[in-house]
Amino acid sequence: MQITGEMLIGASAVRGTEGTLRAFDPVHNAEIEPVFGAGSAADVDRACELAALAFDPYRGAPLETRARFLEAIASNIVALGDELIERAHIETALPKARIEGERGRTVGQLKLFASLVREGRWLTATIDSAMPDRKPLPRSDLRLRKIPVGPVAVFGASNFPLAFSVAGGDTASALAAGCPVVVKAHPAHLGTSELVGRAIQKAVAETGLPEGVFSLIVGAGNAVGEALVAHPAIRSVGFTGSRRGGLALVDIASKRREPIPVFAEMSSVNPFFVLPGALAKRGAAIASAFVDSVTLGVGQFCTNPGLVIVLEGPHTQTFVDTAAQALAKKEAQTMLSPGIASAYQAAVARRSDTSGVQSVAQGTQSGAACPAMPALFLTDAVQFLAKAELEDEIFGPASLIVTCRDVDEMIKVAGYLEGQLTATLQLEPDDYALARKLLPTLERKAGRILANGFPTGVEVSHAMVHGGPFPATSDARATSVGATAIDRFLRPVCYQDLPAELLPEALRDDNPLKLWRLFDGELGKH
Ligand code: NAP
Repeated sequence: MQITGEMLIGASAVRGTEGTLRAFDPVHNAEIEPVFGAGSAADVDRACELAALAFDPYRGAPLETRARFLEAIASNIVALGDELIERAHIETALPKARIEGERGRTVGQLKLFASLVREGRWLTATIDSAMPDRKPLPRSDLRLRKIPVGPVAVFGASNFPLAFSVAGGDTASALAAGCPVVVKAHPAHLGTSELVGRAIQKAVAETGLPEGVFSLIVGAGNAVGEALVAHPAIRSVGFTGSRRGGLALVDIASKRREPIPVFAEMSSVNPFFVLPGALAKRGAAIASAFVDSVTLGVGQFCTNPGLVIVLEGPHTQTFVDTAAQALAKKEAQTMLSPGIASAYQAAVARRSDTSGVQSVAQGTQSGAACPAMPALFLTDAVQFLAKAELEDEIFGPASLIVTCRDVDEMIKVAGYLEGQLTATLQLEPDDYALARKLLPTLERKAGRILANGFPTGVEVSHAMVHGGPFPATSDARATSVGATAIDRFLRPVCYQDLPAELLPEALRDDNPLKLWRLFDGELGKH
């Protein structure tokens, strides 16, 4: 399929006239063809108006049609074949094998949501039958179901050009909920975005859905994204990226005449606690595996373990030395974009210059363009608790080890931390007493708590939580990965004494959709 540099507004391909931009090959430090036309406020307006027009017919279409639509997107993405892999590889410098894996995850995610749509538990169909004879007052017939909120704006992330982008988790969950989607293409993978956008556009046509169910907008600078979030037809926003970008969108959304929710996934250092029993028994092995996790994918994961917390003791130095030796062998590699590489280099330089922080290891030079040299730092809890900037995320292959004098200090550090996507405990049975003390705090801080694992790698499943208190996300009640991501784009409606003839299918007495429902307090398919 030819990449044309056009936006996809409903069923049309439209060349933007508000300036131009190009994709970039970070490995060769070169711009890539073709030229993309940037959209204007009028283009945003057209996409949002089409989305608003599509909303009622789309949410009213049979659930089976919605599920088939999601499956058609998955098939069309697979049908793009090597061209998609090649383009994403060139635009992001991520290895082809990684992109292939990400495609599998993206397709699997769409299929998961298709099965969810068919199964229908997310509708939360609930019926409280009328009690006309109840004293002192009768009870009305009350029936609840969830409906989609309306058109959703999606901002993909640079580090997952497929799984967190045009057809990623935000788009898949919003479409599954019954919301039309307008995506703002990430400037770091414009060609990949167009290819995937065309796969979705084709699926809309194949399934006979209204054209406004999906649009893809391109922007040069922040203006297009700002206009999208401010547009009255947009009812919710999904975002993955920087804390600054996420907060800018939260600010715009909250100042609208009608404020709307923004589900922004932003910043997390993913604390990694090595408890004393684990340190004594497996310290060196944990240190090596931790360095592999920090440097995986050039450290460009939101779940990268950027903070290690250990107790001072006879095995601590071995842990630090092993990690330093392992990290020193890791080569500098090309990052996603020149901007991300320079932000990483500046953040590492700042941390190296921070008093009380020791630079214990750095990786080896490699001649890679847009490079990130792995870096490992060491400090103690007193310094860490005194310098707020030590908790800042460094997006890339860097981590900070914090040593604590005793258990109380470790618990204090845990209590001091900002909100996180993950918290990890490396532990042995003799650490369980300390783990029990830490867990209530970690539950308050993180969306996912791991034992004896590494936080990089997020399963797409029913029980996954990829979220957490601020600044991990702007709304800790939600996840952006996994089946319950759909809840972000739904809201409950209660129907009181509505005549049977007017009830939605999900709430009819005969349960034609065969849904699991809470009927007078009992869960069943009745
Ligand atoms: P970003 O700069 O926040 O950009 C993400 C998307 O939001 C882009 O489409 C961007 O497009 C748009 N945007 C950013 N600021 C905006 C604003 N003020 N108004 C309107 N739209 C805005 O994130 P990124 O480019 O993916 O990566 C940059 C940094 O984000 C990294 O260095 C890292 O620190 C962090 N990051 C975090 C995660 C995570 O999972 N938490 C993932 C990736 C990156 P325009 O620039 O065209 O407006």
